[in-house]
Amino acid sequence: MKIIDLRSDTITHPTDEMRRAMAEAEVGDDVYGEDPSINLLEQRAAQLLGKEAGLLTASGTMSNLVAALTYCHRGDEVIMGDQAHMFWNESAGISALAGAQVRLVPNDDQGRLDPQDVADAIRPRGNVHMPPTTLVCLENTHNRCSGAALTPDDTRRVADVAHDAGASVHMDGARIFNAAVGLEVPPSELVKDVDDVSFCLSKALSCPVGSVLCGTEEFIGEARRWRKMIGGGMRQAGILAAAGLVALDSMIERLADDHANARRLAHGLANIEGLSVDPESIQTNIVIFEIDPSVGTAPQVLQALAEAGVKVSLSRTQTLRMVTHRQVDGADVDDALARVGDVVEELKRRNAA
Ligand SMILES: *Cc1c(COP(=O)(O)O)cnc(C)c1O
Repeated sequence: MKIIDLRSDTITHPTDEMRRAMAEAEVGDDVYGEDPSINLLEQRAAQLLGKEAGLLTASGTMSNLVAALTYCHRGDEVIMGDQAHMFWNESAGISALAGAQVRLVPNDDQGRLDPQDVADAIRPRGNVHMPPTTLVCLENTHNRCSGAALTPDDTRRVADVAHDAGASVHMDGARIFNAAVGLEVPPSELVKDVDDVSFCLSKALSCPVGSVLCGTEEFIGEARRWRKMIGGGMRQAGILAAAGLVALDSMIERLADDHANARRLAHGLANIEGLSVDPESIQTNIVIFEIDPSVGTAPQVLQALAEAGVKVSLSRTQTLRMVTHRQVDGADVDDALARVGDVVEELKRRNAA
């Protein structure tokens, strides 16, 4: 039985072209700024996102942390959505290491923040009782909001509020290229109003390792020191950057295939009685669907699907997440849907008995 792994796009392996580029990569000591492949990747990434400079890091988590360390002093406050990856899935690095207090405002189901909520959450300056609000974080695409993409306008409205209050804006753009392809907007348009953006090479872009943080020369200069401090100076990591360069050249446009497969998946899931999802809401490669209690809980369904060779990930108590990627094609999607249908029928039968 073929295993269909829909847990995450992080499971994608490097392509043959990436492996060749990695084998032949020109390298140097990046801590001395002498790795030509890294320098080129950082330049190309910054260019693509309309920023002055880039910084290769080990992971999206490291990029987000380095950004927070660069902006925040101990005791500052950072505003983000209550569904933010930086809040849920980054081991509280922002408080433990950057020393910042996180202030949550609600994400709507499109991953947006209400600019008025952000304005209300920003602290008045100069009050000794209060932490200064130094940073507002956005996420695009939004992982826990089913891969929803923020439009340039969604971002601008929040960024304007933050900037008016003297706070910076960081974009957790782990899947920013999915947003760009999904919305058919150049990636630079999506981030023109934020101060910096991080994105992952290691997700749908299929690289083995890496993330790039992009912002002003000055910001990246400081971020480079923080990256070194937390152990992220990686020497001849041009081997990784070489795969990143291939990704920026050849892995972005194909994300449309993943999005089409996600839509197909969502349509199929919506047709299975006991599962629900609005297929029209799926904009990129993440499908979060709800499970009727008559079928079971999300962990029970996850387990039963795993036994049927379909790997998915847990989202909430009654929701599961599926992510499409380069190693899943349309036939796999249909195959997965057939297995999901069987599993759901079987669980309902068992529960009714
Ligand atoms: C995956 C992800 C990250 C973290 O990336 P890692 O490379 O896994 O550390 C950050 N933000 C979002 C929205 C993500 O989906």
